Parts: sequence; C-alpha cells; structure tokens
Amino acid sequence: MTVPTDTQTRHDQHGRYPEASTVEDFRHNLAAVRARIAAACQRVGRDPASVRLLPVSKTKPEASLRLAYAAGCRLLGENKVQEAYGKWEAMQDLSDLRWSVIGHLQSNKAKLVARFAAEFQALDSLHLAEVLDRRLQAQGRSLDVFVQVNTSGETSKYGLSPEEVPAFLQALPTFSALRVRGLMTLALFSSEAERVRECFVLLRTLRDQLRQSAPAGIGLDELSMGMSGDFEIAIEEGATVVRVGQAIFGARDTPDSYYWPTQTGAPQS
Ligand SMILES: *Cc1c(COP(=O)(O)O)cnc(C)c1O
Repeated sequence: MTVPTDTQTRHDQHGRYPEASTVEDFRHNLAAVRARIAAACQRVGRDPASVRLLPVSKTKPEASLRLAYAAGCRLLGENKVQEAYGKWEAMQDLSDLRWSVIGHLQSNKAKLVARFAAEFQALDSLHLAEVLDRRLQAQGRSLDVFVQVNTSGETSKYGLSPEEVPAFLQALPTFSALRVRGLMTLALFSSEAERVRECFVLLRTLRDQLRQSAPAGIGLDELSMGMSGDFEIAIEEGATVVRVGQAIFGARDTPDSYYWPTQTGAPQS
C-alpha cells in the first residue's frame, strides 16, 4: 500500500450504469468489478482474495436480487433496515442468502436487524450497541459489526469522529453478541481523487494505531471502504471489503440523498 498511483474516481459514471436485467448481465458486471478489484490489487501488490466484494442491492426489486443470487451472490448489502427486512422475508426460500445492513440504524429498529442480519456495518453509538446486544441475546444470535467512522469531516455524515473511536472500542467488549470485525467509512463524494484517498488513508491509519490498544476480542482486521465510484482507490489504501451497488445492479432511480445525508456534490443523472 501507499504505492503512489494516479487512480481516479469513477464518480462521473454515477447514475449512468445500465440496469442489469438478466443473469448474464449480473455475471458480466460481477466479472468486470472483480477484474477492477484484481487490477487495483496488482498495482499495490495485494492478493485479490484479501478483498471481499459486497454487492449492494438497495432500491432494487426482488426480481433483480434473485438474478444476482442466480449469478452467485450470497451476501447482499442494504442501506435501510425496513427495506432489507422486507426483502429477507420475501426471499426465505433462498436459505443461504445472507444480509449486511450498511446504513445508519435507529435503535428502535435494532430488533429487526437482530432478527435477520448477518452483518451490520454502521455501528456508531453505545446506545445502539447496547440495544442491539440485548435484542441479539434475546434471539440467541450474534452479529458481525463494523464501527462507522466519519472520515470526511462532513457534519451531516454518520459515524464517529476519528477521535471518538478509541474510547468507543474500549466499551464494546461488554456487548458479547457483537463480533467487532473492523471499521467502515464513506469517503467524501468527490471527483477529486486525492481528497477521496485522504479519507481512506485516515481510516487505515486509525485502524493501524488502534490495533495495539484494542481490547481483547475486538477485531480490527477489516476495513470496509469504497463503492462503485471509488473502490479502486480504497483497495490501494487497504480496503478488505468494498460495497458496490450500481456497477453490479445498475443505476438507482431513488436519489442518493434518501440514503446518504449529504449528496450535494453528486452529479445527478
Ligand atoms: C449505496 C451504498 C453503497 C454503494 O454505492 P454504489 O454507488 O451503488 O456502489 C456503499 N455504501 C453505502 C453505505 C451505501 O449506502
């Protein structure tokens, strides 16, 4: 990592990806994304197997998700818990399909996550940790979690500030149903690659610093960072999970402001 490259964002593609409507489309898009992952890994001497691709299916109808499943996807990312829960309920027949909730969660909806999710990537408060843990204990389940960090400094973005993370991690071992895997971030949504890269560098640096002091049982191996427009840069900076929606499923009709707090700089299609 930190091998200098001039990799640019692909945010200019935002909202322009063609809709995937057949299994073949999904196979093709998945192969194309995997090739981009492999190329990014190669630039910095990483093994492509060290990067997990999380396909993000938010806003897409059940029929699309079933095509993604047919093309091999077994874990899908969804931003909003109610939408995810509804899809989970509708696709009970696909018993090996697992769900990752990647968006901000209100504690009054923790119960739903505890019921069906395999992974939750947006842990950002101790109150939420406590409620989630209690709900999970009641279900006899545990959950892989990522702590969301605000690396862009945008006040309306979710996540802890980097300064808050050390104390937050110290408090997490109490919640034994939460298996802490690492950190997650959304970079600045910008076509200025260097400013995007800074967000990813910040998350990796924070993780590297905290590894020494993290309490026993708190894993910090994972860095979930990068989406369709910037995952190559994220991989160059150490991402172990990339969350990719549009490049696999096609552009979304729903405006991103519905899912992300600030999208003022986003080109709209
Ligand atoms: C939607 C979403 C993504 C994927 O964004 P794409 O542009 O569709 O790749 C990644 N992370 C989060 C938190 C999201 O909500």
